[in-house]
Amino acid sequence: MPVPALLSDFVSLLFPRVCLACDEPLARGEDHICTNCRAQLPYTDYHQLPPAENPLVRRFWGKLPVKHTLSYLRFLRHGRVQHLLHQLKYKGQQDVGRVLGHWYGQELSEAGLAPEFDLIVPVPLHPRKLAKRGYNQADSFAEGLATGLGLPWHATALQRTTHTASQTRKNRLQRWQNVSSVFAVADTAAIMGRRVLIVDDVLTTGATLEACAAVLLAAGAAEVSVATIATADRH
Ligand SMILES: [Zn+2]
Repeated sequence: MPVPALLSDFVSLLFPRVCLACDEPLARGEDHICTNCRAQLPYTDYHQLPPAENPLVRRFWGKLPVKHTLSYLRFLRHGRVQHLLHQLKYKGQQDVGRVLGHWYGQELSEAGLAPEFDLIVPVPLHPRKLAKRGYNQADSFAEGLATGLGLPWHATALQRTTHTASQTRKNRLQRWQNVSSVFAVADTAAIMGRRVLIVDDVLTTGATLEACAAVLLAAGAAEVSVATIATADRH
């Protein structure tokens, strides 16, 4: 066994690296997510369907012209996806976003979708929340996607202007009113005439992404599409 491999085995003995999806120790050569989890994650594969058959498209029907509605994984409670998102959002594991974004970006690229977008823009957090958490969980996903797709991303193109109240216990209209006035374009020159891919961690009702899409289109974006790490059933 070559010395670097021995050394890396010794380091993993002291600091065991575990899979971000299942918490089992990673084998040598595995990075962040184990081979077993990677094989068993609940991929939607919606990007391989004709757009009319993509069930996510319905969430934006009759509201805004959203070109592509993409989501990498199905959100299932108590499963690997919930664990991954929890690690990303509350445990500082931004590698979750980077790795999944990179894999997804490569898949979308192989499916011929890279030329469909000019710029990737993450849904921003309110500055107060950003200060508290220290990072925006959508940024690392945007970064990973940008690498996988070979496209630029812009973390501050959008900004959140007011603090949103909790979205729970609100109906669809109330949710929309709650988010529609909270986003603004902070860098008009960057988005003018561009086909923007807006990204977030989870797609639920679509109200947040819809609000971002609306302000981007109003500010002169040529087209908007959305991509999330996971999609949850509407409730
Ligand atoms: Zn695993």
